[in-house]
Parts: sequence; C-alpha cells; structure tokens
Amino acid sequence: MKWTSHRACTSAIASDMGLPQKPMTEGCIYPDQVGMHKANKGNSVEGVNMDYPHHFDTDSRIRSLILLLRKKVLNGDKINPFVLGCLCHLIQDRAVHPHSDSRYQDFMEDMARFRIKYEWRMESLPLWGGSILYNLSDVLTFDNPHNPEGALKEGYQKSLAILRSILQNPYLPDGLQKRYAHCELFLRSHKKTRYAYWMFTYLNPLAPIYFVLDVNAICSRDIVKRYGYIKKRTVSKGIILIYVTVFVSMIHCSFLGLWTLFFSFAGIMITTRFNVPGELITNMEWYLFPGECKQ
Ligand SMILES: [Zn+2]
Repeated sequence: MKWTSHRACTSAIASDMGLPQKPMTEGCIYPDQVGMHKANKGNSVEGVNMDYPHHFDTDSRIRSLILLLRKKVLNGDKINPFVLGCLCHLIQDRAVHPHSDSRYQDFMEDMARFRIKYEWRMESLPLWGGSILYNLSDVLTFDNPHNPEGALKEGYQKSLAILRSILQNPYLPDGLQKRYAHCELFLRSHKKTRYAYWMFTYLNPLAPIYFVLDVNAICSRDIVKRYGYIKKRTVSKGIILIYVTVFVSMIHCSFLGLWTLFFSFAGIMITTRFNVPGELITNMEWYLFPGECKQ
C-alpha cells in the first residue's frame, strides 16, 4: 500500500477512536522506513521485527504485536500510539498484493486515488475476543484482489476492528461470566481431584519438566485460568508419557521407571476431569478473569 493510503486509513482510525493523530500516522509508515533503512527508532517495534520484506511472515508479526498490546491493556500499562500505527501498517498491507506481485504497482496507484468513505466509517464491525489469535489468517484473508477501492476499505476496516478489539475492556464479558461461574464452582467443589493432580504430577521424577510446562498455571491467581493452562498442556504431557513408556520398556521396568509411568499417567487422567470450557481457554490471554481482579 502507498503511504497516502496508509495515512488515509490510519488518520481516519485515529479520529474514529479518539487517538493521537501524529504518532499513529508516523507509525503507519514506519515499517516501510525500516525497509528503506531510514528508520530512526530501530528495526524492531516492542521487540517485533519490522525488517523487510514485511510481507514475509506478516501474520506472526501481527499476532505478536496484538498479544503484546493486549497484555499491556490487561496490566493497565500505557499503549504507545506509534506502535498502534505500525500494527495498522502490517494489517493494511495484508489487504493488497505483495510487493513481489506483478500487479503491485498499478494496483497501488489506483488505490491511492480513493479516499475513506463516510459510509465505511458508519458500518458496524466485529469486536474480537481471544479467538482472533487462532483465526488471524482467516481474518486477514485477501478479500479484494482485483478491486483497489475494496482493498482500501478492507485495510481500513480490518485495522480499525483489530485496534478496537485490542483496546476493549479488559474484563471478562457478560456472555462468558456464566460459564466462568459454573466452571469455578465445579473446580472449587473438586478439591480432592485438584490435590491429586498436584500430588501425582509433582511427586514424580519428571517434576522439573512438568514445572516448566505448568509455570503459567502456577503463576495464575485465578482458579479457572490455572486449570485452563493445565488442560492446555495435556498434549505435551501425553507426548512425554509416550517417551517415558518407550524408555521404561527399554530398561526392563525398573521401580523408578514404573513409578514415573504410573504417576505421569495418573496426572494426565486427572487433568481430563477439569472441565474448563474451550471458550474460556481461548480467552485466557485476552481478558482478566474475576480471580485476578480481587485484591
Ligand atoms: Zn509496507
């Protein structure tokens, strides 16, 4: 996308969202300045690489920036509008042909003739939860490969929707509160199951490995998040269990081997009892859960 189009989209977003214009419009051309070796703030923004070609691996750069910015919102930290501008650039570039494409130049020239329309700004856009982190490539699909005006609209609306989603309220929305309450009650009332998990997993020769896998769970102040993180790690623990089984069968079932095998298996089986809904697991990095808000 040409700088005229990046600036048109981003300046409209800044005024739509009441964010400062200057740093955002500076940010929205910065990734190209990095490519032209004219960057004065380094080649990375918040640790995310902006090097050329940024049409390469773009989705994972966008994802990293989204996660980083959302984490700041959850921690109550200040968001730098310049970084929001850089993110807008990457999202807007995803609405057009990559630089290497033969249609690139003509398409960009055509596109620069169009302006952001009032109707586009009035349309209602989706507000994303944590699911955006898993669906990013679908969200950013190239919708208007032959229509320059459509691509400008797409660049503007997608970057606006993503920025709004990042800056939305950090607290768990009403729609998920009921599921949370249900799950919290279930976990609290299954105290023995919870203790059994920790006992089998940590009175185990593999405890240091499990500790690394469970570190998010151990650091979590919210009970639902804690067991959500544990559930998320079940597959990795299953893979470890397969290795242990192979190893134990090779060393002819020593006592240590059988102990590791039995305790690891029991730990995994107990994990399946923690019924944390998928919708809550998806949003663990996106919202503050009630247990984290209590002082
Ligand atoms: Zn670019």
